[in-house]
Amino acid sequence: MSGSTLVIGAGTNLGGRRSILRAARDLVAHRFGVADLRVAPVWETAPMGPPQPDYLNTAFALDFDGSLAAALDLCLDIERALGRERRERWGARTLDLDLLWHASLSCDGAGLTVPHQGLRERTFALDPLLALVPDAVDPRDGTSLAAVRSALPVAGPPTLLGEGFEALPGDRADALAAAAEQVGAVNEGSRTAAPSTSVKLELSWADGLRDDERLRAWVASVTEALDARRLVLRRAAVIEDSERLTRALLFGEARSPVTRRR
Ligand code: AMP
Repeated sequence: MSGSTLVIGAGTNLGGRRSILRAARDLVAHRFGVADLRVAPVWETAPMGPPQPDYLNTAFALDFDGSLAAALDLCLDIERALGRERRERWGARTLDLDLLWHASLSCDGAGLTVPHQGLRERTFALDPLLALVPDAVDPRDGTSLAAVRSALPVAGPPTLLGEGFEALPGDRADALAAAAEQVGAVNEGSRTAAPSTSVKLELSWADGLRDDERLRAWVASVTEALDARRLVLRRAAVIEDSERLTRALLFGEARSPVTRRR
């Protein structure tokens, strides 16, 4: 850990949650301009607030020398890029990014509190943070966050799903995102493409469609969208998936136009 370590918490409980966390990881690295983002394991956690699906939670650590306000702006941009619409407080969300902790900066002002206001009570934020920075202390008073965590009542251990996002078992939405990435991987530039632009893909499904028919139609639509928009795909995030509708965001780099030789 260095004096400029920043830890950002990430949570999602809509759509292909694994695909959304993977896109969030790539967008955080890209927008914050860091090559060596560190990623915590992923926990599945029960929601706070109104009834809604379970969350996947993780955290990202990076070196950040800018202001906390600038970091918040980048996080809000990334939430919007992943299709977040702000509805009710504590309601379901495609992606929630929180500035959990910075090694030497703190802030308690207009619209921004760091360390995060709920950090000391929320195991779903403390566990990923401590996985990345086990010796984290609150820069305001030197309190050990590991000590804070160990004093919290244990309401059953969190479900640790895997060390990497790829190891998580997928559901249909995640499988559709993975299929899109397989299509994109045909272009050898996809591995190094930056997630600098995105294309929205929205497919309505006829009644009674089988999953294999859906997958075939999906692959055809992804292929067409990548061709039409000349996109080298880096990451696909499925942000909504129901029997009637699938919505996804394809992130990647626009291919430069082919120059013809005379
Ligand atoms: P929510 O998306 O419900 O977590 O709320 C996001 C809003 O909370 C942001 O627009 C900020 O104004 C405010 N906020 C206060 N402290 C933090 C923090 N540490 N990280 C992220 N958002 C914060």
